[in-house]
Amino acid sequence: METKMKVEVVLDMKAQHGEFMWPRASFGYQKSNENPNQLVPNLVAAVIVRKIFDMAASSNGVTGIVRYLNERNFPTPIKHAKAQGLNGNFDDGNGSWNSRSMKCILTNRTYTGILVQGKEKWAVEATHEPLVDPIAFDAIQKAFQARAYNVAPQGQPADNILKGKVICGCCGGKMQRKRGTCHADWYFFTCIIRNRLGADRCIRMYVREEDIFNAIYRQLKDYVNKHYITNSAYKQKIQKYARQIADITQCKTTAWINAMEHYEQYVQGKINKDELRAVQDIANQSKEALIQTTESKTAYEKQYDCRLYCQRYSKQWR
Ligand SMILES: [Zn+2]
Repeated sequence: METKMKVEVVLDMKAQHGEFMWPRASFGYQKSNENPNQLVPNLVAAVIVRKIFDMAASSNGVTGIVRYLNERNFPTPIKHAKAQGLNGNFDDGNGSWNSRSMKCILTNRTYTGILVQGKEKWAVEATHEPLVDPIAFDAIQKAFQARAYNVAPQGQPADNILKGKVICGCCGGKMQRKRGTCHADWYFFTCIIRNRLGADRCIRMYVREEDIFNAIYRQLKDYVNKHYITNSAYKQKIQKYARQIADITQCKTTAWINAMEHYEQYVQGKINKDELRAVQDIANQSKEALIQTTESKTAYEKQYDCRLYCQRYSKQWR
C-alpha cells in the first residue's frame, strides 16, 4: 500500500513537470532519443494527425475523415505502432480507421502541445511541439459538441405516436422513425428493408413525419366536415323534424277522424267498401309517415349525440 502511494506521488510529480511517462506516446509523437520523457513528432504519424485536424477544421465530419484515410490506406495508430516495433497482441479491429479512433485523436488535447495525462488530471503547458493550433482545436471541440447536441439533444425526444403505423408504399414493410441529423427537432420515416434484404426488395421510401401529420390532419378535417356539424345546424335540423312531426300528427288526427266518420257512414250504408278503404288508406299512410319521421329524428339525435362523449370526459376535466 505504501509503495503504491509512493509510486503515485512520483508519477504525479513527473506529470506536473511535463515529463512523459506513458509506455506509448500518442499517435503522431514518439519518445525523444535524447530524453525519453520528452515527446517529439513522428515523421509519418505527425503528417496524418495534421491532415486529420486540417480536415476537421475545414468542417469535415468524422465519417468523411475516416473514409479519406481508409481510401488511402493511411496506417492506423496500432498499425503504425507495430511498424515501429511495438510488441504485443493488440486488437486493431479490422485494421482500418473507425469513428472511435478518429474521435480519440480529435479530442486529445496532447496535440496542442500540452501534455495531458490521467484523464486531464494534469495538463502542463507547452511541453512539446504542437500538431494543431490550440484555437483550431477548441473550435473543433465546439463543432463536435454542437453536432452531438443536434444528433441527441438534451431532454426526451418527441414521442413516436405513429410507431408501427407507417407502412412503406413500395415493399409494405413497417417504416422506421429516425431523427433528422441537421436539425434538432424533426423526424423522418424510412424503409430499412433495402438495407436488410437488398436493393431489389425496395426502392427505400422516405417521408418526413411532418408531411405524414399534415396528410392525417387534412383527412381528419375532411372527415369532420363530412360527419360532424355545428351545434346550431344540429338544433335547426331537430326543429325542422319537430315541425314536420307536428304537421304530420295533425294530418294523421284529421285523417283518422275522417276515417272513423266514413266508417259510421259505411255501417249506415251511405258509402260502399271501396270509398271507406280509400279514406282508411290515407289515415294509415299518415300514421306510417309519423312513425318514419319520428324514427328519422331519433336516428339523427343518436348520430350527433354528444352526451355520452361529454359524460366520459367531464370526469377527467373536473
Ligand atoms: Zn420498403
